Amino acid sequence: MYDAVVVGAGPNGLAAALTLLQEGASVAVFERDDVVGGGARSSLLTLPGFVHDPWSAVHPMTVASPFFRRAGLRIDWAQPDAPFAHVLDDGRAVTVERSIGDTAAQLEGDGAAYRRLVRPFVRDWERLVEGLLAPALPPREVRRLSAFGLRGARSPRGLARRFDGDAARALIAGIGAHAMLPLERLPGGAVALLFAVLGHAVGWPAPRGGAGRIADALREAVSDAGGEIFTGVDVASLADLPPARRVLLDTSARAALDIAGDRIPGWRARRLRRQRLGPGVCKVDWALDGPVPWAATTARRAGTVHVGGTLEEIADAERCVWRREHPERPFVLAAQHTVFDSSRAPDGKHTLWAYCHVPNGSGVDMSEAMEAQIERFAPGFKDLVLGRHVMTARDVGARSPNYVGGDINSGLQDLRGHFLRPGLVDPYKIGDGLFLCSSATPPGGGVHGMCGYHAARRALRSGAGAPPASPRFMDRSDRIPVT
Ligand SMILES: Cc1cc2nc3c(=O)[nH]c(=O)nc-3n(C[C@H](O)[C@H](O)[C@H](O)COP(=O)(O)OP(=O)(O)OC[C@H]3O[C@@H](n4cnc5c(N)ncnc54)[C@H](O)[C@@H]3O)c2cc1C
Repeated sequence: MYDAVVVGAGPNGLAAALTLLQEGASVAVFERDDVVGGGARSSLLTLPGFVHDPWSAVHPMTVASPFFRRAGLRIDWAQPDAPFAHVLDDGRAVTVERSIGDTAAQLEGDGAAYRRLVRPFVRDWERLVEGLLAPALPPREVRRLSAFGLRGARSPRGLARRFDGDAARALIAGIGAHAMLPLERLPGGAVALLFAVLGHAVGWPAPRGGAGRIADALREAVSDAGGEIFTGVDVASLADLPPARRVLLDTSARAALDIAGDRIPGWRARRLRRQRLGPGVCKVDWALDGPVPWAATTARRAGTVHVGGTLEEIADAERCVWRREHPERPFVLAAQHTVFDSSRAPDGKHTLWAYCHVPNGSGVDMSEAMEAQIERFAPGFKDLVLGRHVMTARDVGARSPNYVGGDINSGLQDLRGHFLRPGLVDPYKIGDGLFLCSSATPPGGGVHGMCGYHAARRALRSGAGAPPASPRFMDRSDRIPVT
């Protein structure tokens, strides 16, 4: 009898396991894939010697996360010279630098407004992140966060109204589009503001050697703390698990219903069933013969590049996706790791990671449209392509079950989807001794481990019920833990 069993070894499942282990619980983790890590892993997707991140690739949320900071994991973070850039048609780019002043200096007449917008939050970023990644706003934080709310509680388009120039407005549109919502919707402004603040406060780094290093560090910490991890176990039902006082599911809301439906009371099952899906992504990885030749040379120093042009163009592309159409000129989020981590490609060669938003479940290959967008701002890019690997949104969902239809956040993160994730009251508990710990719970998508951390704390507080011992699992005496 384990104190806890975790289904799924993504960042949240492993964060939950580690949190439980640190409180002295005995824990086993079951993962369907052959390797752990979920959205934090690396693969050889194109040519030999090129290391790609199939899922997450840029990790400001990870380094800023209270869970990761306290866990003290061994991850060697590589920081690009500049966290991110937004490329423009006239051969310019706005490059968000670690220094607020150096960033503001590029925004001409809008420099002072930019400084006023971000500076107070950069100064106090730790408290800000702690509050924003909490399951519910602690009352003592409400006042502090109200200043953030006053500025950020608007759409990206609303936030961009603080600026007069096209460059600053495009910059806000690019970061706001990370919310995967039309630029007219809340809480995209808060997402834009948070990511800009993190750019200055902690940078937008990535682990040297690939996102898989996050998984390695988590796996190591879990096994050092005495946890057992079993891979290659696709859990279809609670009957597949050994007896445990608590079960935590690092799965989508719908998969939780499939696995544990008969143990989930009706009202909780209804709210899991009602969780709405967000748009999907079409994901492309390239092996390149050289670095991306951005016309704006300053963008060559950035880790991440936002490719989509003006605010109006990005707004059109995101609205198009919302109407379940495919934009001709998609907004492309690109990361050029080899600019700041040469270990990911053979000498002189480079990688590029990118996705664009598409309707949920789309089977459309957007690589041509994405390459055309990159070529527009980096003439000569297409000539550098040595290999490419494409996953449509449908492929993304098929390969990784938590990203249903390619929805990388495991549920739409508009205002309602953010606060009712899957419900306002007690979001992690879904049954007696049963908890949801994936990004389908607060605070949602991203490699921060905070869903797992909060779910584990909730599970530790509960007088856990004991799911019945499972003959099906006990029969499988050939299981050998990988750690
Ligand atoms: C293309 C893409 C790009 C992204 N980019 C970023 C980024 O740059 N930065 C960032 O912070 N975040 C990014 N994300 C989001 C981030 O990866 C996720 O929010 C995060 O991984 C969620 O963690 P999780 O543990 O909840 O789920 P996951 O990481 O999906 O892990 C869930 C794990 O559970 C396993 N599992 C599921 N069901 C079962 C079952 N029935 N039995 C056994 N095992 C099961 C899965 O195989 C998986 O390993 C991106 C995601 C995608 C898809």
